[in-house]
Amino acid sequence: MQVLDGKALAETIKDELKAEVDAIRQAAGKIPHLAAVLVGEDPASQVYVRNKVRACEQVGFRSSLVRRPATITQTELLDVVRELNEDPDVDGFIVQLPLPGHLDEEAVNLAIDPRKDVDGFTPDNVGRMTLGLDCYLPATPNGIMIMLERYGVETSGKEVVVLGRSNIVGTPMTILLSRKANPGNATVTICHSRTKDVAAHCRRADILVAAIGIPEMVTADMVKEGAVIIDVGINRVEDSSRSRGYRLAGDVDYAGVKDKVSAITPVPGGVGPMTIVSLMMNTLQASKAK
Ligand code: NAD
Repeated sequence: MQVLDGKALAETIKDELKAEVDAIRQAAGKIPHLAAVLVGEDPASQVYVRNKVRACEQVGFRSSLVRRPATITQTELLDVVRELNEDPDVDGFIVQLPLPGHLDEEAVNLAIDPRKDVDGFTPDNVGRMTLGLDCYLPATPNGIMIMLERYGVETSGKEVVVLGRSNIVGTPMTILLSRKANPGNATVTICHSRTKDVAAHCRRADILVAAIGIPEMVTADMVKEGAVIIDVGINRVEDSSRSRGYRLAGDVDYAGVKDKVSAITPVPGGVGPMTIVSLMMNTLQASKAK
């Protein structure tokens, strides 16, 4: 069984990005600049944003963190987005989700200039991805594609089952894996909360991508012998034996399935670091596009 070590692979790619940024600096070119908007105090969001900012520093990008209180109004948040759209120094930016309940995530997403949409969530980028045109690919699915490519996981002609149909993970994952490209060319099934007999679909999968948000839902009896498992889930599970009171668990029962599969991503240290690297690759692309 091979552990698909996203953390190590992300470090390798960050070294490559750093070399490229060093070359840009030597040529007195524009240093890529990523901004992140963080609204409120959600603990998981704070960790994600901190990791993104830290990764920028590691490779020599510039980064800005725009913090706003949970009490911000929709109009004020749209003003923040407009300012970032118009700031010539910022190459790309993200608005960390989820936003507090009174804010309209869809309206915020629609306000982002597609040329700065390094999360790849705006209709323009999603549409271009679907048509196979140049675009900013959504960070998590693209991070997974990079991982499959670098680890040499064959996808062509394979049966892939994706669990979850969110706009940011499940749905774009199905588009990228089924398109005529390498990696890609897979036969893809998407399962969601209304799917009958999810387990039966999973058991057919040569490659199983779990993006549901239910801790350890995928158990050994649901996976095919020798399958490749991509676990996107990041769930906090109460654990009084840990000083912080919880542990992180994926959507897959790692301990239960690891001896049955040919490769698997750990949680943490699998898909998460690849998501960040993919965001940075998009930011570099945005910076070069100017
Ligand atoms: P989401 O809540 O938006 O979507 C969950 C999906 O799971 C829905 O489409 C729903 O239909 C489906 N679902 C729910 N119950 C199901 C069931 N019993 N069987 C099959 N499908 C079911 O979630 P999301 O934003 O796509 O995130 C999914 C998980 O991935 C979460 O744990 C999240 O924290 C994690 N995540 C990780 C990264 C990363 O970088 N590693 C990035 C984004 C999300």
